[in-house]
Amino acid sequence: MTDTTIRVPFVDLVRQYHQIREEVDERIHEVLESGRFILGENVEAFEEEFAKYIGVKYAVGVASGTDALTLCLRVLGLKNGDEVITVPNTFIATVDAIYYNKATPFFVDVDSETYTMNVLGVKKKLTERTKVLLPVHLYGHPVDMDPLLEIAEENNLRIVEDACQAHGAEYKRKKIGSFGDCACFSFYPAKNLGAYGDGGIVVTNDEQIADSVRMLRNYGEKKKYYHSLIGYNSRLDEIQAAVLRVKLKYLDQWIEVRRRIAQRYNELLSGVPNVTIPSEKSYVKHAYHVYVIRTPHRNELRNWLSSRGVSTGIHYPVPVHLQDAYMCLGLVSGSFPVSEKIVGEILSLPMFPELTDDEICYVCAAVEEFGRSQAKP
Ligand SMILES: *Cc1c(COP(=O)(O)O)cnc(C)c1O
Repeated sequence: MTDTTIRVPFVDLVRQYHQIREEVDERIHEVLESGRFILGENVEAFEEEFAKYIGVKYAVGVASGTDALTLCLRVLGLKNGDEVITVPNTFIATVDAIYYNKATPFFVDVDSETYTMNVLGVKKKLTERTKVLLPVHLYGHPVDMDPLLEIAEENNLRIVEDACQAHGAEYKRKKIGSFGDCACFSFYPAKNLGAYGDGGIVVTNDEQIADSVRMLRNYGEKKKYYHSLIGYNSRLDEIQAAVLRVKLKYLDQWIEVRRRIAQRYNELLSGVPNVTIPSEKSYVKHAYHVYVIRTPHRNELRNWLSSRGVSTGIHYPVPVHLQDAYMCLGLVSGSFPVSEKIVGEILSLPMFPELTDDEICYVCAAVEEFGRSQAKP
């Protein structure tokens, strides 16, 4: 009954590499021959191309998405105890970046449909120490930005977007990354736009923010060996930038395929009992970095799929406020019932542009079979 020869990976980055191998190999080879590996023409060109893609004036390449967040918050001049409002249902790096800056995270719960920031909860969390709102466009589904922009305007707050999962996503027909004072992207290999190693970028329309991040990523250097800030070594390297320049040309095409795959999953799974398909609000373009379903029998379904060769993920199994690293600080207060509930019910199905229709059908047939087996008395 169980066909163990079929394997559907959660992601397969090699398939994509094979499609663009010639171009990528050539660009990497050029970098090797140039002898220039740090802050050269590829980084500069990619920054320009990515800024243009997002529709902002400046982009500054850094070493990771985490660094992008950390440097943005540093540039905004947070002081000890200043508060940053974000969500517990996110990758831990969002909150780490706040802690690196000695600021305090204040959580608002997520919305039970989109699993992203419930913006209606933000106003209640404001105090006189609130400085920054940090929405996370989790899974590639944009946060409802208009109410946040209004709150920021009324209360003189800054907005940093965590767009690490949302390359190519749109809110009201504008690219995610163009709404906040600045936005942060990750080029971790499995992201919608991924390097072949670590990388990240800060995008902004604010020249001062761009200049400061540019200095901070390179030891706070104003000019060679003259340092006006205590900075970091956090640079996007030439090889990664060369790879990203190739891949950026395909990004919109890949997002469209992700959306078609999501559509196909939706069609095939919409009737399955006890399975909730992801929602996409009418005012957004979801970039489907991950395709997340919800079921009360999550662990059973995950094992069921695994025994049929289907790899899945959980994004994420523990909300940040309940992670040991933060629990032991005892600083995070409040309960977040939606985040706490969904972590036991969410399941991410295989999602990458090179997934075949046969694979999608195989995954869905297995989910459906599980649903039927559960529905039986
Ligand atoms: C991946 C990710 C990060 C961190 O990016 P890295 O490049 O891995 O440092 C931060 N926030 C979210 C939501 C992410 O998905």
